[in-house]
Amino acid sequence: MTITPAHDAAALTIDLGALVDNWRTLRDRAATAECAAVLKADAYGIGLEPAARALDAAGCRTYFVAHLSEAARLRAVLLDAVIYVLNGLLPGTAPRFPDLGVRPILGSRAELDEWGAFCVLTGQRLPAAIHVDTGMNRLGLSVEEALALVSDPLLARFEPALVMSHLVAAEESNDPVNARQAVDFARVREAYPGVPASLANSSGIFHPGIPGYDLARPGYALYGGNPRPGSANPMRPVLTLEASIVQLREVGAGERVGYNGRWTAPGPRRLATLSLGYADGYLRSASTTDEGLENGLKTGVALVAGRPCPVVGRISMDLTILDVTDVPEVARGDRATLIGGALDVDEVGRRAGTIGYEILTGLGSRYERRYLDARPTALAR
Ligand SMILES: *Cc1c(COP(=O)(O)O)cnc(C)c1O
Repeated sequence: MTITPAHDAAALTIDLGALVDNWRTLRDRAATAECAAVLKADAYGIGLEPAARALDAAGCRTYFVAHLSEAARLRAVLLDAVIYVLNGLLPGTAPRFPDLGVRPILGSRAELDEWGAFCVLTGQRLPAAIHVDTGMNRLGLSVEEALALVSDPLLARFEPALVMSHLVAAEESNDPVNARQAVDFARVREAYPGVPASLANSSGIFHPGIPGYDLARPGYALYGGNPRPGSANPMRPVLTLEASIVQLREVGAGERVGYNGRWTAPGPRRLATLSLGYADGYLRSASTTDEGLENGLKTGVALVAGRPCPVVGRISMDLTILDVTDVPEVARGDRATLIGGALDVDEVGRRAGTIGYEILTGLGSRYERRYLDARPTALAR
């Protein structure tokens, strides 16, 4: 699948066709709701601009980013899209929003006041979203504040273009917090007739108890993350991370491997040293140590010739050691796959003691990034 010159140290391949397919799957699943795309954190590490162009060509019209600087990057490639800034209105930044033609998501009385005053000053009812906190205690008006705002003259000063809330645990479908949030958000929504409403993230789109309303806001699932952990992943994998084998060596039983010698060869082993390390976003917490093994810890693996080979010893900044004893045909210069194929981002995250979201957004910037074009897939339809 990947077209990789053999001598690159490491390469990240991003399949924009899979990204677009995932967006279509989510759009179909969101049924009558419009399907937006969340492109914060450089489109979860895959690259904001290529992701935006591919999704725009597929028909995506509404986007969410976290920072105003990300909104500026996105506006430079998408001239007509609706763009929301999730992290809200920082003091003094209001003029930047109409300059870029983007919308803040207002989540506190202070932000509402500042936006309202700015609109009065400019003589325009500028669009903004209203964020309601239904359980996260992070951003947003309380449900009571949101209900009271309806009869506040402040609301007439700007255009409430969207009312939204964010789910705390949508990936845990049995968590009762989902139903509580749905009930609270339904009350808010009723108080804002005619204003589009948005509640679902990736997992929310698949949660039977979460109404789709008018706009879905998936991020993780677009990039191949599993929106229903524990069930088969309905999304296509979007990225493949590969690294080259720099050296092969034999070690005898009892030899120690890597910094501080934390892994001991249990017998004669053949090891491969890969040209990729934690500086590339391959987390050191995926290291395999004797202590971790005693505690039954699942740690990093890479695929060599399609077979899983465990990471051994501590992952270093630029290098990672694999036990390739079970792949006798492996040769210097061969590639190992760290993410991709049977190793999806969720699995890689679990093996590093974290979530796939952190793996994606921590992907390094040192290696070559290759984009497989979305167009052939789009034309084939
Ligand atoms: C990041 C984010 C999303 C996307 O969530 P995923 O779980 O990645 O689908 C949606 N809404 C808000 C408010 C977010 O911060």
